Amino acid sequence: MLNRRKFLLNSTLAATGVALQSKVFATPFREEKIAGNYPIVISTWDFGVAANQAAWKVLSSGGRALDAVEAGARIPEADPNNHSVGAAGYPDRDGHVTLDACIMDENGNCGGVAGMEYIDHPISVARLVMEKTPHVLLVGDGATQFAVANGFKKKQLLNAESEKAWKEWLKTSKYQPEMNIENKHFTPVPNKMPGNQYNHDTIGMLALDAAGNISGACTTSGMAFKLHGRVGDSPIIGAGLFVDNEVGGATSTGVGEEVIRNVGSFLVVELMRQGYKPEDACREAVNRIVKKKPELAKTLQVGFLAINKKGEYGAYALQKGFSYAVCNAEKQDLIIKGKSIF
Ligand code: ASP
Repeated sequence: MLNRRKFLLNSTLAATGVALQSKVFATPFREEKIAGNYPIVISTWDFGVAANQAAWKVLSSGGRALDAVEAGARIPEADPNNHSVGAAGYPDRDGHVTLDACIMDENGNCGGVAGMEYIDHPISVARLVMEKTPHVLLVGDGATQFAVANGFKKKQLLNAESEKAWKEWLKTSKYQPEMNIENKHFTPVPNKMPGNQYNHDTIGMLALDAAGNISGACTTSGMAFKLHGRVGDSPIIGAGLFVDNEVGGATSTGVGEEVIRNVGSFLVVELMRQGYKPEDACREAVNRIVKKKPELAKTLQVGFLAINKKGEYGAYALQKGFSYAVCNAEKQDLIIKGKSIF
């Protein structure tokens, strides 16, 4: 998959879902079912590249979108250098690493965990909540207990780098989500981020499998140094993630409170149902958020990523710096502001 020449060849195609669509419709003799641009997987941020590779292994062998997004989301969750997702996530202001995640399949089934401590793969626990309980969301201690009862090992998650960053933060204890901090560490592969000050970044993944079914996953450690007990949009179905197999799927990143207030991912999917293209739906959702709070227009970072049933995809973020990764049979790419960077 990591064929750089191929990336270059396909970089113009990568720029927009529209370009992909016209290519797809230029092949008139394909059946409707396979005429779409799938299987395909898309993910937020630069660490989505590595996540997509894991998801693609599942999709390219005919696997289910649900398995693909779970496999993909586990990659940044396990990355010791990723301080905004999973085990190495920065702690809250009291030094607790608390993780949030949710998952949703093509049948509208969903599950999530929020504020869960000591368990390094929240996305897999979220899937178990979906598959083994009559509930949608388990929180805090209950989520940890459920994970342990289902075979997960309890671990101390606060690693040396995260602890160092937290102790540094304690010196001033200034809590203000900093805009575009992600961009300072931008690189297309998961990297070591010395003194990394990421205070928000989530992986949201959406996959459309060979059978034409959509699933999504979303996982994060939330805002660094957050108030103990704070839960963002990422584990909330409809806010951080939503899938409707008739229409498409959406996921979000950025300041979760604003996304929850506007039920952001649900809104993006509903806009696509009304005929909006994925990128337009994402832009409209961001605009609705800003319309209510114009005073945040210059400081708030919030973004959405979406895919529709045909495999057209798009994204929109309020501030610059947002990237997303795309992987299908033709290419693997990382896109910033509509431009391929490979
Ligand atoms: N949306 C996440 C939260 O608010 C953080 C992020 O995506 O940057 O917890």
